[in-house]
Formats: sequence, structure tokens, C-alpha cells
Amino acid sequence: MSPGTRLAAEVQNSALIVDTHADTPQRFVDEQFDLADPLNGGQLNLDSIHLGNLGAEFFSIWVEPTRFKGQYARRTLELIDSVQRQVAKHPDQMVLVVTPEGIEGAHRAHRFAALMGIEGGHSIENSLALLRQYFALGVRYMTLTWSNSNDWADSSGDIDDTVVPHTQDGLTEFGKDVVHEMNRLGMMVDISHVSDRTFYRALAVSRAPVIASHSSARALCNHLRNMSDDMLCAVAKSGGPHSKGGVVQVNFFSGFVSQAYCDALEALKPKVDQAVAALEEKATAEGRELTYAEKQKVRRGYADTIPRPPLSLLIDHIDHIAKVAGVDHVGLGSDFDGVGGQLPEGIDSAADLPKITQALLDRAYSDEDCRKILGGNLLRVFYEVEAVSREL
Ligand SMILES: [Zn+2]
Repeated sequence: MSPGTRLAAEVQNSALIVDTHADTPQRFVDEQFDLADPLNGGQLNLDSIHLGNLGAEFFSIWVEPTRFKGQYARRTLELIDSVQRQVAKHPDQMVLVVTPEGIEGAHRAHRFAALMGIEGGHSIENSLALLRQYFALGVRYMTLTWSNSNDWADSSGDIDDTVVPHTQDGLTEFGKDVVHEMNRLGMMVDISHVSDRTFYRALAVSRAPVIASHSSARALCNHLRNMSDDMLCAVAKSGGPHSKGGVVQVNFFSGFVSQAYCDALEALKPKVDQAVAALEEKATAEGRELTYAEKQKVRRGYADTIPRPPLSLLIDHIDHIAKVAGVDHVGLGSDFDGVGGQLPEGIDSAADLPKITQALLDRAYSDEDCRKILGGNLLRVFYEVEAVSREL
């Protein structure tokens, strides 16, 4: 074992690692997947959590907007329930947590902390009452949109689609109320997925620092889901003059990390869409609906023909954000179980997280900076969001 390896193991084992985005709840509900099961094509289970020393995960509560039209709240509650049931099934290994103190307490007790974040403001069905109830059930962040714009905020996913109605300035009056209510409750405002205009409006409105739960750097991979250098700096300064600023949690998806992969995936898109549509038609003929996992399998099949980018490209994104926005403003937002394609080489599951620590140390990041990136920064923001909530 080289000295470098020993150092990485020490840092890795002593760090409280927080990942802010995993789509595993789709598997809980649609595949009856249990976290104690083998990965079976997935990227997160209890074994990989232990091997990767993952301390806390924000499970994504994501409601597919087309399939569940008219049932957003129902699906949201089913996904929340699925996370709560996993915690109830494995009380010796994991605990449901709703505060930063809770994350630290779980870590001391050698338990994995499960948290929840809603991905897509459409889940609240234009109701602050629903927002408050989701908070009461344990949800601690919400991306204002997913890839679909809603009645009060715009998404990067359809901002160029002229058929889709959009807001005038990025957020409607109700959208501002949503952000204020999130601030008041102590729910982190998550700007991953939103359009650029909605991003800047949300930052102007939020009284607490914001997070990007799973977004990478546009300077390295030009995709609207990624953030420009100006946006990275804006997140670092979010929350006002007395704030220590927000955090950008890097998305591991190869299509957001590597320009070559992103371009190749874009070129395959017509074929992939066609294949998914054909399968959908077949399922409809059989009187059933295609699950997210089935669609992902098709997308993965095509994406697997594209060479995976090296891990160094993912580290480049962390490095870029640390240089542009500051080392206090970058973290990990894997998007495990949520990407229709491969992660960079060597990253197959949460068990591979130590490779990121090693790579950061190899690039001369200090132990302290590594711990900030691996989870410390997110904890700081979470504490501050709670403090702002108490003030309001
Ligand atoms: Zn997402």
C-alpha cells in the first residue's frame, strides 16, 4: 500500500460523505427493490453504501410528469412512503433524518442517514399546503422544476419549446411565494434543472443560500442542465451578504461530464426515442404502462455503445467549480439510479466513492478540503438554511 493510498483511506473513512441525489425510490416502488438486495443493475444498495462509507443520501422523490398526470400528489406520497418503509425495514443500518444534526448523529451511531428531496415543483400541484405537508413528512429540498416547466417556474428541459407555456420572468408571484415558504420552513431551495432565468430569479428571491443537488459545469460540458461560471459564482454568493453561500453538487452522469459523450448521446436521441415509443406502444397494447426502469433499460442499451469517459473528467468538474466558485461551494450529487447511461469509468456504484477521494488527494487537495467536498459543504448550507428558517 503506497502512502497515498493510506492517506486516501484515512480521509475517506473519517469523512462524513453526503450525496444529494439518488433516484432509487423509483426502484423501491416499481421493482419492489430492497436496499439489502444485490445491485442487480443499480448503483445504490446497503453493501455499496458501506463499502463507499456513504454517510447520508438524499433520495429523490421524482414524479414522472406525463405518466402520473393528475396523480402528482399520490405518486409523491408513494415515493415518500417507499423511503420510510426502507428505513423501517433496516433500523439496525439506517435512519430517516431531517436535520443536519441528524446526519451527524447517525454518522456517530454508525447508521446510514436517509433523507428526501423532491425533484420537480409540479409535485406540490400549485399548493403551499402540499409543500408544507411534504416538509412535515421529511422532505428537505425541492428542485423548483424537473425537466418540465410548471405553472410557476421554468425548466432548462423545455425552455426552448415554444409550445410549452413559460413564465414572464422565470418565477411567477406564486413561484416567489413557494421560495419564501421553503425558506420559512427550512427546506433547501434546489436550482438543478431550472432555466437560467428561473435560476437568477430564485437566487434574487431566496433569503437562504441555495443548492444545486445534481448539476455540473457548463464550461466543461456545454449542456443546459449544467451551470455557467457566472451561475457557479452566484450560488457561492447566494443567501445575501451575511451568508456563507450555497453549494453545487456535481452530477456524475457521463452526458453532463463529457462533451464527447453528451454529443454522442444527442446523436442517438432519435433512435432512442423511437425505441422507447415502440416499447410504449407494445405495453399499451398489453394494457399496462411502461415503468421508468424499463425505459431506462432501453436508454442504457443505446448509451452503452458510447465509450465511458475517464474518471478524471468527473474530477475536472469538481476542480473547476472549486476554482471558479471556491472549495467551500462544491460537493457530490451522483444521480445514482437516475441516469439513462453510464457513469464515468470506475464509478459503477456508491462503493466506488473512495476513488473520488483518492483522485482529489492526487490533485493535492488537502484532507480538510476533501472532507468539505465529500459532505462538509452541504452540511454547512443545511445548517444555515435551518438558521434562516428560525429567523423567519
Ligand atoms: Zn434530475
